[in-house]
Amino acid sequence: MHCPFCGADDTKVIDSRLVAEGESVRRRRECQTCGERFTTFETAELVMPRVVKSDGTREPFNEEKLRRGLTRALEKRPVSIEDIESALNHIMHRLRSTGERELPSRAVGEEVMRELREIDGVAYVRFASVYRDFQDVSEFQEEIQRLKSAAGETGSGDDAGSDRG
Ligand SMILES: [Zn+2]
Repeated sequence: MHCPFCGADDTKVIDSRLVAEGESVRRRRECQTCGERFTTFETAELVMPRVVKSDGTREPFNEEKLRRGLTRALEKRPVSIEDIESALNHIMHRLRSTGERELPSRAVGEEVMRELREIDGVAYVRFASVYRDFQDVSEFQEEIQRLKSAAGETGSGDDAGSDRG
């Protein structure tokens, strides 16, 4: 990088060490032209896109909110905290790798559904029923039917779908 003192191109790293528990690299550099020394810090940029809500307002990406949503959908399901965390990481990774600075909240919801569909069908339906704007009841039923046939219809008679009363 350029020397901040004389602007020369040629600066040399003379020391390099990890700081902040390995989250960043601190480099000591020396300019080969004027001999001045300076320090740089290198940190991975893990900026999440901002979320554009359906009414057009923007809000910062909220990891905690996403974790709560996943945890709620997976409540009393045979899925470990570790699996929830890794699902969270997958979702955030995919959202970041879009390279977009802003994403519609719908895109976040779709990624959550994609992840839940892989780890737990029941949680997926729970989440989808709240999150996705199903046009009507039949669309929702189709989705459940599709899931059932994908799962090979393991109907155990366990009151799935009729937890009222
Ligand atoms: Zn210099």
